[in-house]
Amino acid sequence: MTRTCVAISEADAASALAVAREALARGAECLELRFDAMAELPGDLTPFSQLEVRKIATLREREQGGGWEGTTEAKWEFLRRAAKAGFDIDLELGHPLVSRAHLLRPAKVIVSYHDLKKTPSVARIIEVLVECSARSDMAKAAFQVRTVHDLAQLVEAAQLFALTRERFTLIGMGELGMATRVLAHRMGSLLSYAAVSPGKETAPGQLDLETARWLGKEPVVTGIVGSPLDHTVSPALHTAAYRASAVRGTYLKWVTMVDELEDLLDVVDALGIRGFNVTIPHKEGILPLLDSVDAVAEGIGAVNTVINEGGRLVGRNTDVIGVQRTFEHHKVEVKGRPALVLGAGGASRAVLQFLTTEGAEVDITNRTMGKAEALARMFGARPVALRAAEERRYDIIVNCTPLGMKGFPQEAPISPHALHEGQFVMDTVYNPPVTPLLAEASRKGARAVNGMDMLIYQALASFELWTGKAVEREVMERAFREALP
Ligand code: NAP
Repeated sequence: MTRTCVAISEADAASALAVAREALARGAECLELRFDAMAELPGDLTPFSQLEVRKIATLREREQGGGWEGTTEAKWEFLRRAAKAGFDIDLELGHPLVSRAHLLRPAKVIVSYHDLKKTPSVARIIEVLVECSARSDMAKAAFQVRTVHDLAQLVEAAQLFALTRERFTLIGMGELGMATRVLAHRMGSLLSYAAVSPGKETAPGQLDLETARWLGKEPVVTGIVGSPLDHTVSPALHTAAYRASAVRGTYLKWVTMVDELEDLLDVVDALGIRGFNVTIPHKEGILPLLDSVDAVAEGIGAVNTVINEGGRLVGRNTDVIGVQRTFEHHKVEVKGRPALVLGAGGASRAVLQFLTTEGAEVDITNRTMGKAEALARMFGARPVALRAAEERRYDIIVNCTPLGMKGFPQEAPISPHALHEGQFVMDTVYNPPVTPLLAEASRKGARAVNGMDMLIYQALASFELWTGKAVEREVMERAFREALP
């Protein structure tokens, strides 16, 4: 069973002791005392030995990310004292003292390895774990995860090394390695290192104790797969939903390149990740990699939500639900009404699916008319040149281009001529909340709605598919407004 081990890195023994007591009171199941962080090593270890929990003493060397610069003999003298005081001992792989580890008995010895720059191949990770195991009671290895491919290597290495039945802990450091920490149990790791509180982390990506305790050993893990993901607010929406519904879970970010999608799916399968959202550029490319795709997602040729149903990966599209609920929320009548869709990408497909299914008379225009023509054929809409569209009267206009979005040209995708009172104008863009199109639409007396509703309704639908829990819209709306004030 995986234990939560709080790593304590304080400048003096008194503070370390105070933090250790606090961590114990808050549910730590093991403590790692980073004595290398102290300006002076404590002469008396009795107060530490009185802590009734498994304790690890570490004097991490500088090249392994620690602060120890003393001699080998000074290190040995201290670690022997620590072993006598009831500590288990952590030694770095390759350190001369590893050959004397047996003299520390009955203390248990962890031999550890840290690469703060990269994750090597599966073969090399296993080699490191084998070397760490050779003279220890537990092998520990931690690697910086830079890509989804790195993450997949670590997960595969954990699966293979578990076959040896040796005791180990294998950690992926950094944001992309988070899954190896929250699902340490599924990795087969004996320890899951945590910080006593946010800001006290001893390694990148470490959870804080409160979060680790709340998540427990078998949290629901979901996330988002795409590139880039710098500005996504989805983690904020889903984190709020987990808390509000009391489902112990977390939503991670996996920046994934096109040639890494299969690696990502391997990780999802191996760690039992419950599902994930798919965004640019994978909404279409992921279809052939899934076990099945529902009729709506198949029809529009795009998946934004994948559900792991006991090892079968099922693709759905909740963007369509997002559009539908936005129109319902704003009580917009669609049947028989003339509507214009601007743009012919992924978002347009969801909007076209909804509008055409509900019986609107839909025109579509796009910078590249060939794409508009193809989507028009697919959904039973009419392709129309922008100039011609500007001369028509539409009851509904939906912008599905990024024009007006932060980082893109701050201009409306259609002339103000096309906007009028009583019209419903929706922009799929939500950042900024008022785009040039929406500002102009409001001036003309139209009803102007940004992409927040669509985003929230699709997120609510995805969350419900993964967890079975329906969360109030207000929960995600509050999180959205906090994330994008
Ligand atoms: P996409 O698949 O890349 O499609 C982008 C579309 O916009 C294409 O038709 C493209 O035309 C057009 N376009 C791009 N730059 C343009 C420019 N400078 N001038 C005119 N047209 C331009 O992207 P997407 O996934 O559909 O996303 C489009 C927008 O919808 C984004 O702003 C995104 O944030 C938003 N969105 C919102 C939600 C939500 O929940 N609110 C969900 C999904 C998307 P070409 O075909 O000529 O390249």
